[in-house]
Amino acid sequence: MLGLMQDWPLLCHRVIDHAAIQHGGREVVSRSVEGPLHRTTYREVRRRAMQVAQRLGRDGIKAGDRVATLAWNTWRHLEAWYGITGLGAVYHTINPRLFPDQIAYIANHAEDRLMFVDLTFVPLVEKLQERLPTIERYVVLTDAAHMPQTSLRNAVAYEEWIAEVDGDFAWVTLDENAAAGMCYTSGTTGNPKGVVYSHRSNVLHSMMAVAPDAFDLSVRDAIMPVVPFFHANGWSIAFSAPMTGCKLVLPGAKLDGASVYELLESEGVTMTAGVPTVWLALLAHMEANGLKLSTLRRALIGGSACPRAMIQKFEQTYNVHVAHAWGMTEMSPIGSICGIKPDYGTPDFEGVLDIKMKQGSAPFTVEMKIADDAGKDVPWDGKTFGRLMVRGVCVAREYFRGEGGDILDPDGFFDTGDVATIDPYGNMQITDRAKDVIKSGGEWISTIELENLAVGHPKVAEAAVIGVRHPKWDERPLLVIVPKKDEKIEKDEIIAFMQGKIAKWWMPDDVVFVDEIPHTATGKIQKTALRERFKDYTFPTQAAAE
Ligand code: AMP
Repeated sequence: MLGLMQDWPLLCHRVIDHAAIQHGGREVVSRSVEGPLHRTTYREVRRRAMQVAQRLGRDGIKAGDRVATLAWNTWRHLEAWYGITGLGAVYHTINPRLFPDQIAYIANHAEDRLMFVDLTFVPLVEKLQERLPTIERYVVLTDAAHMPQTSLRNAVAYEEWIAEVDGDFAWVTLDENAAAGMCYTSGTTGNPKGVVYSHRSNVLHSMMAVAPDAFDLSVRDAIMPVVPFFHANGWSIAFSAPMTGCKLVLPGAKLDGASVYELLESEGVTMTAGVPTVWLALLAHMEANGLKLSTLRRALIGGSACPRAMIQKFEQTYNVHVAHAWGMTEMSPIGSICGIKPDYGTPDFEGVLDIKMKQGSAPFTVEMKIADDAGKDVPWDGKTFGRLMVRGVCVAREYFRGEGGDILDPDGFFDTGDVATIDPYGNMQITDRAKDVIKSGGEWISTIELENLAVGHPKVAEAAVIGVRHPKWDERPLLVIVPKKDEKIEKDEIIAFMQGKIAKWWMPDDVVFVDEIPHTATGKIQKTALRERFKDYTFPTQAAAE
């Protein structure tokens, strides 16, 4: 017997319809790429998204076609997403920080037909366009007054382009399983692989994301996603914000501490989301200028491990709750969010920090397990490391064009490539990427834990730990440190600081100081580059012994 409820496909454009009807006047404020702040509303975003859809149709774009965006978070980018999905086409966000070769590879692999491009990236694409044969037209996200002279194929200014149609358009009717968006993994090994979100997965993911134990987002909030739309589906905020009707603040191209701070304060932002490096810059700016935060109450931090010192600063100095989250492009992207479950009782502040260092528990729609190398489940005791595997309605089942082959185990779980522990209350903690974990004398050492500890030292700006070949132990940890500006630190200071806080055999065998640690296009420490740099390194103790 079937249920007798209505068939109401979960489609992305239903989200902007809802926002326009129920919260039509709510503001969408952007720092425009041209400079000034720009204000619009959900009602207007929807109206102009209809023009985008209609105009794309006039350019011959059809349902299922891929349309690239190479753009910052602004109202125009938001309109483009809804216009693309409302026509049944597929938004394909491209990360401009990728190497040009990778950009060419993924635009060709996706066979993008049209590209929305911000002014910032016009020079980059001009150099690349010979290698992007599938792109028939470039729509520059600006108006006629700011349109540059450009050699881009069929280039047109966005405002002029949409002004050619009246917006008298009806969203196309689609199967909710139709593709809505695409994002390629950053591909640290091999070519980037395309993850294809469906309308259904985007809508369900956003419903999950707004819940109190996740983003905790309501119509009374003002959210600023500092995380760009081109990182891991923009953490779904382009859908979850309009779903609740909260105010949306988009930071455009300026992600430095001062610019982010200015918007947080001037727009009354209550909730924000981004990777730790962005918050490092914000905290440094506030500290240097003796600033406070008057409206921000919650910061969602993920993408890489959030250091304890950062959680402490936000919570203690600025009275902002940190929600530490973990996810992946392949997961739409939320996989877990950390909160203090009642099971923990009422921990003191240090206890709260211990818990918040974990990446958290899986929300409904995500199933998690940890397994050993043989695929056997390992216990949820908060200590045993295992490969983190996930399954759920917003988790990829395969990559675009079947790249990488079968990516699920026989039970349908996807191997995240992360190593983690899970405590008895279901809170997961990432200890490493599987390929970064240090195997010393047959035991595993968590590089993330060592890094977290090192950045807790007041003179350390950033830290990375890599495994270096060792004749006796196979691998031993080498700690690489970027000191804070104008600070001088000695190796012994760091070692003394770490002593007693970790098992003796986890202690790095050496500490080296560098000016900069390399990062990937999504802001993660690029351990492959560090390993390459230190490939001929030998530990002083080892050299003495030889
Ligand atoms: P991406 O698909 O680019 O978002 O990268 C996903 C990967 O980022 C995950 O598999 C993790 O290795 C890492 N990651 C994301 N969030 C966190 C976090 N909170 N702590 C540690 N690693 C994280």
